[in-house]
Amino acid sequence: MQLKVILNHIERHHGFVYDLVTWTDSSKRSLDVSVRPHGRSRGVCSGCGKRRPTYDHLPTRRYLFIPIWTIVVYLVYRPRRVNCPACGVRVERVPWANGKERITLSFQWFLACWAKKLSWSETARSFGTSWDTVFRAVKMAVCWGLRHRDLEGIQAIGIDEIAFKKGHKYMTLVYQIDRGHRRLLWIGEDRTKATLRRFFRLFGKRRTSTLKYICSDMWKPYLAVVAAEANQALHILDRFHIVQMFNKALNQVRAEEARRLKELGHTVLKNTRWLLLKSRRHLQRSEVLRLKELVSHNLKTVKCYLMKEDFQRIWDYKQQWRIGYFFQDWVDRAKRTRIKPMQTLAKTLESHAEQLFNWFEAKGEISAGAVEGMNLKVKLTTRRSYGLRSKNTVKYALYHNLGHLPEPESAHRFC
Ligand SMILES: [Zn+2]
Repeated sequence: MQLKVILNHIERHHGFVYDLVTWTDSSKRSLDVSVRPHGRSRGVCSGCGKRRPTYDHLPTRRYLFIPIWTIVVYLVYRPRRVNCPACGVRVERVPWANGKERITLSFQWFLACWAKKLSWSETARSFGTSWDTVFRAVKMAVCWGLRHRDLEGIQAIGIDEIAFKKGHKYMTLVYQIDRGHRRLLWIGEDRTKATLRRFFRLFGKRRTSTLKYICSDMWKPYLAVVAAEANQALHILDRFHIVQMFNKALNQVRAEEARRLKELGHTVLKNTRWLLLKSRRHLQRSEVLRLKELVSHNLKTVKCYLMKEDFQRIWDYKQQWRIGYFFQDWVDRAKRTRIKPMQTLAKTLESHAEQLFNWFEAKGEISAGAVEGMNLKVKLTTRRSYGLRSKNTVKYALYHNLGHLPEPESAHRFC
């Protein structure tokens, strides 16, 4: 069987035929597949997309194709310039590559697909190409996916933020968190009112009006924008964000107390950070013993820890009155602790009680733990060694891995 037959089988382009297949040079490491226009077919104007008569020919261009059996493959073609009455003299648009790219779309989809399984640098190394080429492939796939994705029927969204550059910069992320449908919908720079408003503008008034649930943390700008843009939706304080707040308060108390104790020569709080932050379910036996020992001390940190653990009981209550009763009792106790971060936390929770209670109303309607799950994946993606160099690359990596973006039919054979 000839290579041409295989190429025609996997990738036939209307108006073009595969011609000679030759070794590129004497080293026999790469193949040149020449392509020529079919019969008297006319080139497509890159400006308006209409078929136009040929004006002249440009020098030969080589487009990197998917390698076969470790042999590099190029499509070799001499592009025509067409004479277009509407656009003037223009280079023709070829169906196997985008604009000025010297790499075929097939190879780009192939790389983009592998870039989900491997890091970008591993992908580049595996297929003998550069990090930049892989990045451009991912960018192409993301742009295509964003243009073709379906945003209809979304009923629940989660708003989250991630810090980067050591907490000096933030990004706002919006997820779809309907039951059984989780994906990253949008990424915006910063976490201001304007940031979130940009999302709602993109999402559109009609779609926003059908949102039923919106999960977020207590960040004021988010609260204000959600109230203004999607008043009909049930605004829920996410459980995950509440746990985060507890951890933050606990950490603050622990750090302060550890410092004070160290000055006095005690090391009881040394290396206890994760022990206290980890959920009890995830503790190993040795950690449980250490925790038991730690809890026997009369420390502010321990008090804080117990208050935090106690609060977790709220999630299991089913009746509204029990939830309300427990909550008020807990808040009152927290206020009496005389531990500043705990008191502040209690006051904050109290002022957002309505959104907190909404969580129970939405329970079962939205994908449980969705925001937390997505948040973890986001952190994993950004941390993985993609060689991510800038905010921009992080953005594309996130959309690529978590956006569940559609792909053209032809890309499916790679994955
Ligand atoms: Zn034109």
